[in-house]
Amino acid sequence: MGSPQGRIPELRKDSVTNRWVIFSPARAKRPSDFKSKSPTTTQTQQQQDCPFCLGHEHQCAPEIFRVPPSSGPHWKIRVIENLYPALSRTLADPSAQYPILNPNPNPGSGVKVLGGFGFHDVVIETPVHSVQLSDLSPQEVGEVLLAYKKRIEQLSTHDSIKFVQVFKNHGASAGASMSHSHSQILALPVVPADVSARLDSMNGFFHETGKCSICEVGVEDLLIDESTHFFAIVPFAATFPFEIWIIPRHHSSHFHELDGAKIIPQLTVVAGFEIGTGCHINPVFPEDAAKVLREVQNSE
Ligand SMILES: [Zn+2]
Ligand SMILES: [Zn+2]
Repeated sequence: MGSPQGRIPELRKDSVTNRWVIFSPARAKRPSDFKSKSPTTTQTQQQQDCPFCLGHEHQCAPEIFRVPPSSGPHWKIRVIENLYPALSRTLADPSAQYPILNPNPNPGSGVKVLGGFGFHDVVIETPVHSVQLSDLSPQEVGEVLLAYKKRIEQLSTHDSIKFVQVFKNHGASAGASMSHSHSQILALPVVPADVSARLDSMNGFFHETGKCSICEVGVEDLLIDESTHFFAIVPFAATFPFEIWIIPRHHSSHFHELDGAKIIPQLTVVAGFEIGTGCHINPVFPEDAAKVLREVQNSE
């Protein structure tokens, strides 16, 4: 029983912060081609070692689909399973698994634990190592967004999946472990507290005022750019310096409901999964950390 790494991932709800945290031992094992890269490493050497490059498909976890479909060796985009998933797609219904795999240490205490069921996919945005998302043509970026949409539609057919987040970490400092341009899709069996708080807040604003809170704050001072279908703003109470929201003019509650000509998230925080959802991924279980800390203390 358990993952190849020995321990299955787990979702725990912190009853103090009301936040779900994903405990994912596999995440600690992922390699980083940022870290191992010396200044003398050439682009060619990087490509030889990179599993996301064209021709290295066999080094990756299984493919889910590619764009264009059945394009042989000349694909443009690949959606694959993450080799180091934060959550496990092989665990069955999380509520059914939990009592067997993770006996609750304090039944009746209100402590909430779920088996770490979920999907963690990678979208390889280009077959070419040196090309970044910003180098792609608008049409090619559109194809990446349509790949997100297709995968979200597939994931949303699972009854146990309650929330899907697409995110992209650009550069080592943003938490990316691979320099080849890619994004990630995490499908969770819970709705993160920050997300439901956002929805509740917008709902409350609408009931009070009859207006949409996003449209209401889209004032000129905050506007960065606009087009026929979208506008980009710095949010009124931005959490981070240079935070940007890209908002469609057409009101739609779900990314995958947007049609081909409007393909951008309803509300995008330009940052990774943890910033987007307030749901954190931790590779170290607290009891393991406590054990290490106790040992350090005892050896002194
Ligand atoms: Zn590559
Ligand atoms: Zn609005």
